[in-house]
Amino acid sequence: MIQTSSHQTEDGGQQTERLSSPALIPQDSELERSLRPKSFQEYIGQDKVKENLAVYIEAARRRGEPLDHVLLYGPPGLGKTTLAGIIAHEMGVNLRVTSGPAIEKPGDLAALLTNLGRGDVLFVDEIHRLSRAVEEILYPAMEDGVLDIMVGNGPAARSIRVDLNPFTLVGATTRAGQLTPPLRDRFGIVQRLELYTPEQLCDIVRRSAMLLDIPCDYDGAIELASRSRGTPRIANRLLRRARDFADVMGGGVITEATARHALERLEIDELGLDKLDRRMLDMIIRGYRGGPVGLETLASALGEEAVTLEDVCEPYLMQLGMLARTPRGRCVTRLAYEHLNYPTEDGGAAKQYSLSDMLDADTP
Ligand code: ADP
Repeated sequence: MIQTSSHQTEDGGQQTERLSSPALIPQDSELERSLRPKSFQEYIGQDKVKENLAVYIEAARRRGEPLDHVLLYGPPGLGKTTLAGIIAHEMGVNLRVTSGPAIEKPGDLAALLTNLGRGDVLFVDEIHRLSRAVEEILYPAMEDGVLDIMVGNGPAARSIRVDLNPFTLVGATTRAGQLTPPLRDRFGIVQRLELYTPEQLCDIVRRSAMLLDIPCDYDGAIELASRSRGTPRIANRLLRRARDFADVMGGGVITEATARHALERLEIDELGLDKLDRRMLDMIIRGYRGGPVGLETLASALGEEAVTLEDVCEPYLMQLGMLARTPRGRCVTRLAYEHLNYPTEDGGAAKQYSLSDMLDADTP
């Protein structure tokens, strides 16, 4: 089984998690704390982002000012929280971590902001999920370093202005397009994180194996890395599962053979696709002759949430060139037919899509 556990989501919904889901699952937390790189040197890949941030941090330090507000965007599990920690570490300040859905009322944000020390970093994960009322408190805080708080009701209501310590907001989002323009405009530094290459993920797996004292040879590491959907969080999770298989069946060392065996048992194929990815492609091919099919229709046919397909399956399937989002819906490409061993000649279903079709990314 690929599914590892099931827990309540923040929305109260029951969500089934997959081993290859880039989202955080409860078992990850402790592991992640021990593996999280603390400096730019330890942080593998994302060279452009690192180089840019290093310059901005050095400049801010020389001027004796806090770093400008930073927006990091990209799929989950790529190292946004980790980067926020590194920024705080390099600036020599404290880090406070929260998330958009956790800040329910303007008062919650006010409490967080008034507790920040000079130059501190406030990391807000899933910042696109802040409520409108909370966002409005954030604008003057980011721009002028002040809080405008309303006290009293009706005609007696008045606004009190509170000065804040200068601070740096580091916002993270998987969906930069969902940020309101006034919020987006208040970030001086905007950086996009890319999926990692198998070689970079191999370095990450080897680093984690060393820190966790897991014997893992190079071929074992590259095998796990190349099936981790470009995502360090998944690579670390697969490492942990492969260790179980190596301990029980392979003499304790993760080799290419034990890694392959573990991945097979976890139903993750040689390209890193799991059962849901394959079901999704299969449904489009067999149920809708290759597409186009709308996201909601597809989600209900699969009995999954549309957001799971959109955030978890699609980025990687599109990166592999197996799926296209077109103005009329989702379509699979010839590569998907080939990967699932379907003939590509019949019915003309294995279409080729133009770049502009593929780029029309936000059409449901
Ligand atoms: P995000 O905030 O984008 O969801 P995280 O920062 O929580 O992702 O990263 C998930 C895990 O992946 C971290 O605990 C860390 O161990 C690992 N990781 C992420 N990026 C890197 C990197 N560049 N080098 C090494 N490990 C990384």
